[in-house]
Amino acid sequence: KVRVRFAPSPTGGLHLGGVRTALFNYLFAKHHNGDFILRIEDTDQTRFVPGAEEYIKECLTWCGLTPDESPWNEGAFGPYRQSERKPSYRQFAEELVKNGNAYYAFDTAEELDEQRKLQPNFRYAHDNRMDLRNSLSLGEEETQRLLAAGTPHTIRIKMPEDEVVSFDDMIRGRVSFETKLVDDKVLLKADGMPTYHLAVVVDDKAMEISHVFRGEEWLPSAPVHLLLWEYLGWKNEMPQWAHMPLILKPDGKGKLSKRDGDRLGFPVYAMNWTDPKTGELTVGYRERGFLPESFINLLAMLGWNDGTEQEIFTMEELINKFSVERISKAGAKFDFEKAKWFNQEWIKITDNSELLPQVKAIMAKHELNTDGIDDNFINSILDLVKERLTYVEDFWEQASFFFQKPAQYDVDAVKPKWNTDKTAFFKQIATDFAEQPIWEAASLESFFKGKIADSGMKIGELMMPFRIMLVGGKFGPDVFKIAELLGKKEVIARIASALP
Ligand code: GLU
Repeated sequence: KVRVRFAPSPTGGLHLGGVRTALFNYLFAKHHNGDFILRIEDTDQTRFVPGAEEYIKECLTWCGLTPDESPWNEGAFGPYRQSERKPSYRQFAEELVKNGNAYYAFDTAEELDEQRKLQPNFRYAHDNRMDLRNSLSLGEEETQRLLAAGTPHTIRIKMPEDEVVSFDDMIRGRVSFETKLVDDKVLLKADGMPTYHLAVVVDDKAMEISHVFRGEEWLPSAPVHLLLWEYLGWKNEMPQWAHMPLILKPDGKGKLSKRDGDRLGFPVYAMNWTDPKTGELTVGYRERGFLPESFINLLAMLGWNDGTEQEIFTMEELINKFSVERISKAGAKFDFEKAKWFNQEWIKITDNSELLPQVKAIMAKHELNTDGIDDNFINSILDLVKERLTYVEDFWEQASFFFQKPAQYDVDAVKPKWNTDKTAFFKQIATDFAEQPIWEAASLESFFKGKIADSGMKIGELMMPFRIMLVGGKFGPDVFKIAELLGKKEVIARIASALP
């Protein structure tokens, strides 16, 4: 059975790259009728940030990536928080020591810092481990004495001096590593907590994970993990790995970071995140006005396509069409303008009924009482302005004039300048409008244009003023549709109050 996991560390808000990793895991699982598991990797207590776990939960819910098993919905493979599995990690680390694949290291943090000062490129590895304080260099007796005395220690993997280890990455194909270039990574820390390297192997095994999609930054750690799977005797149960392509800055130069977002003014986090220590707020896609459907859609296209020109996909289509073969190895450039385009497209195809609650919330935010306003009225307005919205919030800018008469008029947009002929024309048209038997855009248009023709003035001279009387500025959808929706009484009143 396909079982994949998303394994974030609760260290802060989720970057869009993190959500994309969750999404690709989810799509792969669902495509194969498998399970999508959430595991919280909280073994690094120094990086633990309160609130981050709740954030992850809310974010996955908002995105529609509901885990089949998680800390809040445990399956048969718990615990789902790494810290709760703490006792078993030591047991595996000890087993590795016993079999000669790992060793106790007694070097203190100060001693290691000292080494780093002496040699900036210091790494704890096969070529210098006999010069450092560990069970390999100290011998059995001294090691036992130190352990018995309760000396703080870590457990490190004993990397082979000169081997080549390889695996087949689902995206990259065969990848090989020379063990001599890899240092003896810590597996168990002095506080008894495992490092990521040990925990990821033990947990993926315990949770019967079959496939792993994870960030490219973990590729260099793969040889350590490969060897651990082997040393623990689980080689045949190792999941298949896929290291995801990087998400690059808009100019393609390097990995996209939160700082690029801050600098260029676009969000990088999924939802708002307030750092509990500094109080600093990072704006997210959700609060910026992205629909979850468009956020998911744009993330899916960062490194994947279905081989056609299609760009708009529902979650269901993504699940059906997802295939590892179509994930690119090359990094995907992130373009915020394109992200906005996805949102525009999604607003266009989203049912008004789904947008309505958000629209009403926006109206309320602008202190407009929505009590007396009919949903059908808002729906008709939505139909008219929908294609002009990048964010649902834009509704206010594009449509608030439907609910309140313009606070000011863009008189500069009236060209040529206003004159008494125009005043006379509009006075007359207001009277004529009052007599109109049917109030509907097409007939209003032909009536209005007929009157212009009679007046001898030009169409443009009078159309723009009409729009400005109703809307306040030089924007909005078809002016006769606006007039139709505003209704006869309101249109006449707006003409009257706009006239000098
Ligand atoms: N905790 C790791 C991270 O947050 C998980 C990496 C993995 O998926 O194995 O990046």
